[in-house]
Amino acid sequence: MKVRENGGMTVSTAVPFKVADLSLAESGRHQIRLAEHEMPHGMAAFGSVRVTQMVTGYSKRALLTEQFLGFEPLDLPERSYETLAMWLTLPAPGGSEEERFKFAMGLHAVEHALSTALPVLVGCDPGDTGSTWTMGHHSCGLPMVILFDEAPGGVGICESGFRRLPAWLDLALRVVEGCPCEEGCPACLLTPRCESRNAALDKRQGIATLKSLQLSRSAAGYNPRR
Ligand SMILES: [Zn+2]
Ligand SMILES: [Zn+2]
Repeated sequence: MKVRENGGMTVSTAVPFKVADLSLAESGRHQIRLAEHEMPHGMAAFGSVRVTQMVTGYSKRALLTEQFLGFEPLDLPERSYETLAMWLTLPAPGGSEEERFKFAMGLHAVEHALSTALPVLVGCDPGDTGSTWTMGHHSCGLPMVILFDEAPGGVGICESGFRRLPAWLDLALRVVEGCPCEEGCPACLLTPRCESRNAALDKRQGIATLKSLQLSRSAAGYNPRR
């Protein structure tokens, strides 16, 4: 959303709904489905979740230059609902703090790549799904990428992606690896729906993480339909 102020000199860009929390729904404990095999470098799952979102504020930017002019906090109520989600869980990375930060930026890139590929794979609108990532989800302490149906209750978009996960991973990798840009561009990784305005994204690390997920999937003979 863009709002002109001061005779068109500044533009306020609202921060999109921020995922404040995402946890397994009460009913989800009976519904959770895992990929048939846990993969050496990741595990895929699908089930009901409770998403809690809130708008925390908006940033002001110059209309022409997009120069950052300040952040205005907002005190708005949370929005909480149950929906259907697909999530990938990865092993915690070792190494130095710098290496873990690089892994985190790659995980963020994987979230964006899967979000970019899903509408192509299943024919939905990019706004039909939400997504988030974390280096330590409160349920297990492990890194996760989560995509969920925006519609309360869920409408089957992420389920469709989960059932076609090998094709989804392949397409996400092709979108990012096949793009000639160096660090990510609107055709592959950048999106106006990112909560952090596309900061902290590492295209090369994202490609490496997607490849490790692909390798583990083929090593395990992964097939969620079986
Ligand atoms: Zn690109
Ligand atoms: Zn993002």
